[in-house]
Amino acid sequence: MTRHVLILGGTTEARALAATLAADRALRVTSSLAGRVAEPRLPAGEVRIGGFGGPDALRCWLADHAVDALVDATHPFAATISAHAARAAAAAGVPLLAVRRPGWVAAPGDRWHPADSLAGAAALLPGLGRRIFLTTGRTGLEAFAATTGLWFLIRSVDAPRPPLPEPSHVLLARGPFTVEGEAELLRRHRVDVLVTKDSGGPATAAKLTAAREAGVPVVVVRRPPVPGGVPVVATPDEAAAWLRAAPARLDP
Ligand code: NAP
Repeated sequence: MTRHVLILGGTTEARALAATLAADRALRVTSSLAGRVAEPRLPAGEVRIGGFGGPDALRCWLADHAVDALVDATHPFAATISAHAARAAAAAGVPLLAVRRPGWVAAPGDRWHPADSLAGAAALLPGLGRRIFLTTGRTGLEAFAATTGLWFLIRSVDAPRPPLPEPSHVLLARGPFTVEGEAELLRRHRVDVLVTKDSGGPATAAKLTAAREAGVPVVVVRRPPVPGGVPVVATPDEAAAWLRAAPARLDP
């Protein structure tokens, strides 16, 4: 009998998992995207796009579409959908796994300053520099809007919505990025502080190498925790192995 797997996606890992599972004829795979990006990279298999409408609606979706297993392969900072997935899976009796790529680890020469939130990152900036490279994505930028005396280079895939910190320059770009390219950006814009989420993974890690080589301090926003009780793996291969051995759907 075919088992239906729902992957909550929007990440490289989610696409890789969908590609791996697409070849498995015992599985029907649906990937779910939030619909934030104008031209998303589509995964293999079936795709649905847009929010579910909260945890209860997600629970109904799982039941209505006879989902046998749920994989939360969303970005480490997409905490709302991860919390909804945990609630909905528990209520629907559907086994849930989270895929989280490992966070970045500081190397010798790095000047990292941890922050617990974007607001915490903004509070650190005046003590570190004046020309700030913000790579935290297009949402949450209001946390930096009240700062004064700083200039921002804001990079995101799609245009960020106001309120933005001012003065600023917006650069629309999608990774992966190279160390040479990132070093050139730091030089051209005379960046003296980099701000990043601890997203992990290779696609956007080049900025950290470039910052280390240029002696630029980096404010690293820590990840929110994975909801309690949800098993976590680091790679799509581990997720595929879990799915093949996944327990059957439980009675809610
Ligand atoms: P979020 O704050 O955790 O979620 C906000 C709402 O967006 C959720 O309540 C849900 O709406 C909807 N949503 C999020 N992911 C969804 C998915 N895969 N499928 C269907 N609905 C989804 O999420 P976010 O931080 O805005 O990120 C949105 C998406 O972009 C995520 O899927 C994530 O993997 C991807 N992404 C995020 C980041 C980041 O830095 N946060 C970076 C790269 C990619 P309903 O409540 O209506 O169901």
